[in-house]
Amino acid sequence: TISMIVIDNQHNVAAGTSTNGAKYKIPGRVGDSPIPGAGAYADNSVGAAVATGDGDVMMRFLPSFLAVEEMRRGKRPKEAAQIAINRIVERYPKFFGAVIAVNMKGEYSAACNGMKAFPFSVVNNELQHVTVQEVSC
Ligand code: ASP
Repeated sequence: TISMIVIDNQHNVAAGTSTNGAKYKIPGRVGDSPIPGAGAYADNSVGAAVATGDGDVMMRFLPSFLAVEEMRRGKRPKEAAQIAINRIVERYPKFFGAVIAVNMKGEYSAACNGMKAFPFSVVNNELQHVTVQEVSC
């Protein structure tokens, strides 16, 4: 899965997620990636979030939408992403996946479950080059 969030210099935010799908997928499977609010969600007045992991579970919880709505309610990206992951883990403790959240100030973080740590790439005005960062799950 490749998920991306971009904020341009006019303060527009966009988010997108593409995937090769789940292993052993059945023909016709949709998964979470193309579903707005599941694989990705963006709102210029708040920020954006994207997700990767077990899409057949995630598509039932709209974790990207939830993370954006939590930021709308004042949460920082880390907490917003964690709330979205927690919502899934309450029902599926073995859930494997991660959510990345970015607000319109460019603050970002991620939360994950089912692995030791989750790496993601970042570039912004402070970082000269794309850097790989990691959150522990
Ligand atoms: N979420 C993707 C899917 O279920 C898979 C992935 O993120 O690796 O299609």
